[in-house]
Amino acid sequence: MAEKIKNLIHGKWVEAESKKTFKSISPADTSEVIGIVPQSEPEDVEKAVEAARAAFREWALTPAPRRGEILFRAAETLTKKKRELGELVAREMGKVMPEAMGDVQEAIDMTYYMAGEGRRLGGETIPSELPNKDAKSVRVPIGVIAQITPWNFPIAIPSWKITPALVCGNTVVFKPSSETPVCATRFVEILHGAGLPAGVLNLVHGAGGTVGEAMVKHSHVNAVSFTGSNPVGEKLAALCGSLHKHFTMETGGKNPIIVMDDAHLELAVEGCIWGGFGTSGQRCTAASRVIVHEAVFGDFLEAFVERAKRLRLGSPLDEKVDVGPVINESQFKKILGYIEIGQKEGARLVCGGKPYRKGACARGYFIEPTVFTEVKPKMRIAQEEIFGPVVSILKVRSLSEAIAVANDIPFGLSAAVYTQDVNASAIAERDLDTGIVYINASTIGAEIQLPFGGTKRTGLGPREAGGRGGALDLYTKWKVVYRDFSGKLQRAQIDKE
Ligand code: NAP
Repeated sequence: MAEKIKNLIHGKWVEAESKKTFKSISPADTSEVIGIVPQSEPEDVEKAVEAARAAFREWALTPAPRRGEILFRAAETLTKKKRELGELVAREMGKVMPEAMGDVQEAIDMTYYMAGEGRRLGGETIPSELPNKDAKSVRVPIGVIAQITPWNFPIAIPSWKITPALVCGNTVVFKPSSETPVCATRFVEILHGAGLPAGVLNLVHGAGGTVGEAMVKHSHVNAVSFTGSNPVGEKLAALCGSLHKHFTMETGGKNPIIVMDDAHLELAVEGCIWGGFGTSGQRCTAASRVIVHEAVFGDFLEAFVERAKRLRLGSPLDEKVDVGPVINESQFKKILGYIEIGQKEGARLVCGGKPYRKGACARGYFIEPTVFTEVKPKMRIAQEEIFGPVVSILKVRSLSEAIAVANDIPFGLSAAVYTQDVNASAIAERDLDTGIVYINASTIGAEIQLPFGGTKRTGLGPREAGGRGGALDLYTKWKVVYRDFSGKLQRAQIDKE
């Protein structure tokens, strides 16, 4: 049964003013409608932004530990509903159950973590140059934050954005991906049900180009946090620059795993399999390039292809399934298009390459796990984000060549190296130009208590997740306060001579 969902504006669940709707469809079975969703317009955005603006001052003055307590209650509810939410993620987004449960667990972890940050939102007290004067920096909220999220972590990414923004004292207008609006609604319902005052968190569904852009352009929106594709992110970055708004984005990746000649090969094969084909390759941290030392290339390739062929495709709700569908028709066509491009470029297709249509999979967007070898570093399949179950394997002769190939792309999110040589691991850690480096583990599996984000065209602005140096820097601005209690005129530049 399709669920009818609504926007949340000033604490009330409402339809779009226009009453128009769109459908959220399961990618595993396109005959299953998951939700009927408001197709909002700028007039709905206007109401949501005004609600967030009106709620801002009182929320900002609410002690941060009290704000944290609301998040703590939400984390408790998320924990109780983990299975139900996991099944919804599997149905609406198409992740297999263990990954869908992991998506929810990440939101649980993030919400508890940010609840705790309510008691840690400290600044600094620093000695002044002058006597009888003190100096400190304090974190203050930014104001109304517009948050725009993708579909690939439909509960986790909203939690990365919303919970730190709220604990820092901001109010939020949230536009989730149109592919996963029901998951987003469920998360917002839980936060709302935990006791957020009206207007502190507002949810507006609808098309990115209409609702998202209206949010970003609104003069009462003070900051924008975006996660999604490069073309959209770069457009919004330019817009926010011209409007002088705080802006952060996390966008695409083309993440490499280096397998050295001394690697524990079985471990490396498993890491490359789950990094490459987990979530059908639709993670921003997916390992879409595997860079293998020539001494172990043959053995690695044989084991990797054999393992890829054994992956089971099917319903994400079936616990025995390894790989689910890709998200929608346009991604399905784009991925198959890249498989064609790879062959035309001269890469050798050694596994997969076709839609998978067995049984009930015929009603969904399934693609066989696909492996290319004889891939050259400058080929498009080795440079561009495909965001599907397609892995390119490249051969190198040394660690320095591997690192050069790994870095020679426009993105810089995650990278991994498999080696048992401590010196090689130290060099890789130092020289890989990515926001995250894994040693003897795959490119996926970031933990929420550390900053998350990338270099080059992957990231802009402070990182997501983490505390200081991460999300707290994203959602607060610094105010510096000097207090002179000397009772006389003291001038820093002159009186210190
Ligand atoms: P997308 O097409 O850019 O959409 C992301 C969000 O932006 C959606 O909510 C979308 O709304 C909205 N949007 C689209 N056009 C807009 C516009 N003109 N103005 C404002 N908002 C707009 O990306 P996606 O396909 O959902 O996600 C996949 C991408 O996200 C991949 O490139 C992946 O690497 C990246 N990603 C990056 C990270 C990271 O941390 N680096 C994490 C996850 C995903 P609609 O859904 O209504 O179009």
